[in-house]
This record gives sequence, structure tokens and C-alpha cells, in this order.
Amino acid sequence: MKYVADMHTHTLASGHAYNTINEMIRAASEKKLEIIGITEHAPAMPGSTNVYYFQNLNILEREKYGIEVRYGAELNIIDLKGTTDLDPRSYRDLDYCIASLHTTCLVPGTKKENTYALLQAMQHPKVRIIGHPDDGHFPTDYEALIKEAKAQDVLIELNNASFNPRGFRIQAYENDIQILKLCVKYGVEIMLGSDAHREEDVGDFTRTEKILKEVDFPEELIVNCSLSYVKNRLRV
Ligand SMILES: [Zn+2]
Ligand SMILES: [Zn+2]
Repeated sequence: MKYVADMHTHTLASGHAYNTINEMIRAASEKKLEIIGITEHAPAMPGSTNVYYFQNLNILEREKYGIEVRYGAELNIIDLKGTTDLDPRSYRDLDYCIASLHTTCLVPGTKKENTYALLQAMQHPKVRIIGHPDDGHFPTDYEALIKEAKAQDVLIELNNASFNPRGFRIQAYENDIQILKLCVKYGVEIMLGSDAHREEDVGDFTRTEKILKEVDFPEELIVNCSLSYVKNRLRV
């Protein structure tokens, strides 16, 4: 399968990633992607950038090295009410946002509490994607999550980095099997994300392929297959 978009990547600004914006775009262009999304960690992530960085992103061109570029943020869910960490002034001009749970920004609650936080975050006006909801550190009611994703028109991410054996997430594989089956059941679309923190990983979805095959996941529910579909679904 050819994927044309990678809408979850990080640069030096995130504090624990290692390439510049230009290097990430060039890598995407060399890998024949048609669009890349740069989504730095919002400020609650230790070591990440500040609100002015996000406020100023609108000065950057949305086309470079022959491909399209969009600028967003990976918002941190910072409490069990689903509050995220950018103020309206700072997310107003962003193209889109991902909302994610990270143990560095929130102590996990009960399954019910984590699920509530995710459902609330989906109501954020810029959130189009729930990032890596497969992390077993945050037990989640996946049936409730997927049904709400359908209702709120939010995409569920299948994150290539979740399957990195040296990564920080746990039980991702078992959880993703469950998530993908529910997406099929309810007709909810997914977005593949590399979550690249270095240029070599841009557009790399090789780890997700195996699990997609395993559940025989239908191609028409994978947004990354078409540029117009990506732009349409992210409203960018
Ligand atoms: Zn993340
Ligand atoms: Zn990320």
C-alpha cells in the first residue's frame, strides 16, 4: 500500500527530537510523500517549546520541497477532565491538533477516568486525531472511545512508534488489535502516524503494516491513502 501522508512528526523544537523542520520536510519529499504534518509537543511536555512558537507558525509556507506542509501541535491531556495545554490564542491559527495522553504529563487514572478525559479532549475545536490511544499505561474503554470518535468526526491514530521495542508504551499490540476491530465494527477511520523524532523515521509505517494485515483492516478506512482525503478529513 502506498501512503502519501505522515501527519505526526516532531522536530528539534519538541526538545527530544533531532532534526529541523526543513530536514523533516525534505525527508518526506525524498520518500515521495505528498504532505507532511509537523506536530510539536505542546508546552506541558518537559523540555518542549513555548506558546509563541505555536502562535508564530502561520508565517511558514504550506508548501516546500515540492510537497504540502501543515503545522499543528500534539496537545497533552493534562488532567482527567480532558483539559489540554494550549490556550485559544496559541492554537487558533494551527492547521490541526492531535490530542494524546503521556505519562510525563498526567498520572493515569482509572479506566473510566482515562476514557472520560479522552472523550472530552475530542470536543476541542482543533483536535482531529487522538494520538496513540493504545498505551496500556492508560487503561481505556475502547468501545466508548471508538463510538465517540465516530460521533465527533475524530480520527484514531495507529502509531508506528507504539510498536518500537525500545519505546515507552506498553501493551500496544493487544490494545491496537481491539481498537482496529472496533474501528471496523463502527466504520471509524484511522490515521497512520510515524511519530518520527528523527528524519529517518518520517513516513515509516512498516510496524503498523503487520497488525493491519493481521486484522485484515480495510484500506478504505485508512486516511493516509489519498492527499485529498487527508486534507478533507483534517480540514486543512
Ligand atoms: Zn505522543
Ligand atoms: Zn508524538
